Amino acid sequence: MSKLLADHTTLRLGGPVDQWLTHTSPDAWQEVVRAVEGRRPFVLGSGSNTLAADHGYPGPAVRMATRGIAARAVGDDRVEVTVQAGEPLVRLVAYAVAEGLSGVEYLGGIPGTTGAAPVQNAGAYGQQVADRLVAVTAWDWQHGRTVRLNAAGCQFRYRSSVFKAQPGRWTILSVTLHLVRSARAAPVVYGHLARSLDVPIGARPPLAEAAAGVVADRQARGLTLPVRGPDMRQAGSVFLNPPVTEQQAETVRAAGGPVYCDVDGVTRASAGWLLEQCGHGPGRRLAPGVYCSTQRTLTLTARDGATAGGFTAALRTMAAAVAKSTGVQLRPEPVRPALA
Ligand SMILES: Cc1cc2nc3c(=O)[nH]c(=O)nc-3n(C[C@H](O)[C@H](O)[C@H](O)COP(=O)(O)OP(=O)(O)OC[C@H]3O[C@@H](n4cnc5c(N)ncnc54)[C@H](O)[C@@H]3O)c2cc1C
Repeated sequence: MSKLLADHTTLRLGGPVDQWLTHTSPDAWQEVVRAVEGRRPFVLGSGSNTLAADHGYPGPAVRMATRGIAARAVGDDRVEVTVQAGEPLVRLVAYAVAEGLSGVEYLGGIPGTTGAAPVQNAGAYGQQVADRLVAVTAWDWQHGRTVRLNAAGCQFRYRSSVFKAQPGRWTILSVTLHLVRSARAAPVVYGHLARSLDVPIGARPPLAEAAAGVVADRQARGLTLPVRGPDMRQAGSVFLNPPVTEQQAETVRAAGGPVYCDVDGVTRASAGWLLEQCGHGPGRRLAPGVYCSTQRTLTLTARDGATAGGFTAALRTMAAAVAKSTGVQLRPEPVRPALA
């Protein structure tokens, strides 16, 4: 197995690691713990939200590749589903829809593993992992033991959690979510999804229709992998939608830009729109081999000649332009491996 992070991330950037391990069997976790010999590994799922440094990571890396979904009825309508960390999130969504379980139907099409989903509280179309999470089972590298963290323990925020705040401390081994038996999806809250499904906001379409509508909408907006052509190497959105003050929100609204209240009640502006106000746009070159995707300003892509250093410099340039013209601070979304 290649020891180059570039071979394990969707941006195809990143230098070598000292040791490469793939965790495939839930029962064999202790073998991974022994193999890293006390060093804290960098843990990867599908590498779809990772910007790995050109110099790599000075330690071992572990790819989570365990599979398995087990369901347990815990009430008339409520089902707890325990998913192994390496199970692709799209497979969990397909499973839930096939079993008539609502709660994750709008997360379809998000690349990546279920084990990584709590790290940035993955979410889309008004649904987020935090809303459904019962607990994660994780290995605590600080204390050398398996722990169970409930939703409060995960300290979820908008695209963040305790796992993002303390990178490398825990490796999530499995995720337990509560889903609800229902033939209908959760209410549609996004205008463009409502339009593409041809239903009013608040409608509850049949589960399979909602899930298929989300994937179609994502495909149309360049939000799924794999992508062919120049946008192939990417990690999705590169900035979080930033929090804005009431005054900044007014300025954005007055200029016709989108502002919304997130699930934590924080007012946010669209990072993509702010970048476009500063002259960035689809297809724009920002550094050697680093371009805005041909479909979306907020997705940066790597082409021949790209380096992680150049990618990071492009992020800085973009954030500085927005800060200078609006005072709003953009924060990058892809995670960088911390030092061991
Ligand atoms: C086209 C595209 C669209 C996207 N759309 C969305 C979207 O709509 N919403 C959204 O939230 N995200 C989106 N993303 C980002 C990404 O898909 C998600 O963040 C996803 O959850 C990352 O999963 P992964 O397995 O690829 O994570 P990786 O990139 O492998 O890892 C990401 C981080 O999580 C850590 N990690 C991974 N697995 C574990 C584990 N088992 N235990 C502890 N830490 C772990 C890694 O160390 C790293 O810090 C998109 C990405 C792309 C490329």
